[in-house]
Amino acid sequence: MRTVGIRGSSQRIEVGKILCLGKNYPDHAKEMREEVPQVPVVFLKPSSALLCDGGTVIVPPLTKELHHEIELVLLIGRQAKNLPVPDAFKYIAGYGVGLDMTMRDVQREAKKKGDPWSVCKGFDTSAPVSEFVRKEEVRDPRCLDISLKVNGTIRQHSNTRNMMYGIEQTVAYLSGIFTLDPGDLIFTGTPEGVSRVVSGDLLDAEIESVGSLHVSIR
Ligand code: MG
Repeated sequence: MRTVGIRGSSQRIEVGKILCLGKNYPDHAKEMREEVPQVPVVFLKPSSALLCDGGTVIVPPLTKELHHEIELVLLIGRQAKNLPVPDAFKYIAGYGVGLDMTMRDVQREAKKKGDPWSVCKGFDTSAPVSEFVRKEEVRDPRCLDISLKVNGTIRQHSNTRNMMYGIEQTVAYLSGIFTLDPGDLIFTGTPEGVSRVVSGDLLDAEIESVGSLHVSIR
């Protein structure tokens, strides 16, 4: 059983499925030399990918190009299906800081062949997440500074207002495809500035009002 913590509480929430958006910040799509998608790009990670409250990301032997992607993560609090956009916030229980660790070289090959992304995005330790904060503690999740440092140097810095599909649109859209259950996580995509990390690197990820996440690479 994989669980996430809630800040200021001893409660642990069992995690269900992990849904993720790709290319949800136009400047990241540009740096990948790809078109901004016309509909959300959606993929899944298994719950075995979780690394809760930070820790050590293990570089798989399959890759020579492991990338960091900082992302705002939504925690679903109530079952949801076919939500209208204006109702979406009611189904969110809280927010966390996440890293969508990606084997970029393996992903590039998968894209070329039209293969799925399960390996490059779903391996063990590919989904570090912080403790979650209750939604009441975040005044406006649509406008939060988001930044990531590697060994003390800023690599990614943006704001959640730059998302192409906002939080409500994302939750509503996904609920039309998947029944959302309490404990499901949604990774909302990464801004520009993704780069390679290697064994020994220290990552500090931070989202305004939500918290921080510290991860080492081995
Ligand atoms: Mg991502």
